[in-house]
Amino acid sequence: MKIALFSACQYDQDYFNEFNTGHQLTYFVDALNEQTAILAKGYDVICLFVNDVVNKTVLETLKANGVKLIVLRCAGFNNVDIKAADALDIPVLRVPAYSPEAVAEHAMALILTLNRKTHKAYNRVREGNFSLEKLMGFNLHNRKVAVIGTGNIGKALCNILKGFGCQISAYDIYPDEQLKALGVVYGTLEETLAGADIVSLHCPLMDSTKHMINKETLKLFKHGAMLINTSRGGLINTKDVVEALKNCQLGYLGLDVYEQEGGLFFKDNSEGIIQDDLITRLISFPNVLITSHQGFFTKEAMEQIATTTYNNIEAFINKAELVNRVVV
Ligand code: NAD
Repeated sequence: MKIALFSACQYDQDYFNEFNTGHQLTYFVDALNEQTAILAKGYDVICLFVNDVVNKTVLETLKANGVKLIVLRCAGFNNVDIKAADALDIPVLRVPAYSPEAVAEHAMALILTLNRKTHKAYNRVREGNFSLEKLMGFNLHNRKVAVIGTGNIGKALCNILKGFGCQISAYDIYPDEQLKALGVVYGTLEETLAGADIVSLHCPLMDSTKHMINKETLKLFKHGAMLINTSRGGLINTKDVVEALKNCQLGYLGLDVYEQEGGLFFKDNSEGIIQDDLITRLISFPNVLITSHQGFFTKEAMEQIATTTYNNIEAFINKAELVNRVVV
């Protein structure tokens, strides 16, 4: 098969070359969108990541240019118009679970760094400053943590938090029996947010979850609580979160995802002028920690992403059951 990978970085090339099962691969650094869709001309399969934009217009261009299959090298599919793809008979396959521990461990890293301020301590000590002023954290043991969405990643986080001795409450439309047995207490979104010292988001971005953290739900947070988002930026109304940071209703914010991350994340902008005033405002807070969508980024996850993507393509070629097809 002739496969075009969009939004391809060097590490994508490394892993997709290493696990290639005999396909002809072309890597495009550009993201797929209405301007770049024409690049897919002559390819059978296109392989996409989180910030490629696959709306109806893009899909029509892909169809007209011979694309037969879309493989997402990620779990989330909020960037693809699945109904339009179905109507054009272009199956969309994804990697539903690749090392959920990778993202859960990154969420934990954000929690620990924000709490114990190790990023500040690292810089201080390198400059010969051994003062402890303003580095005080809190024990995680016995703290209340709210996990919103207890699928693969949320569940992995619950297991990690259990080891830290946290009290875990959770909200999910499908509560998990194993987690209940572990002592995780399920409630409504409102009940779960109220009283939590830390809130961590792990549900998918859909119409029903867009901006679930907003001016109103932020009022339910315990004053000074920590919010962690390693799921999708659109779960949070960023303007409302900036207000909550300014009036100290939010005490800490850890983001691995950002609603306007497309065009910004995964690129070196260090010599450029950042045009997004919201992210620059966020970066200016001393109690905000942002990473650029690196939760998935471990060796184990990259290997699983590449091998599952090739398995998805083989299933399509062999007309086997498309177990990882996105259905809405
Ligand atoms: P999953 O499908 O295993 O779990 C999602 C859970 O959310 C399910 O249990 C589902 O019942 C629940 N859910 C659905 N709608 C809900 C709602 N309205 N309210 C509450 N819960 C709801 O997915 P996962 O593998 O755990 O991944 C979760 C999210 O993490 C993905 O959607 C993706 O956006 C994000 N993700 C981020 C990275 C990263 O690098 N930061 C990597 C992989 C995935």
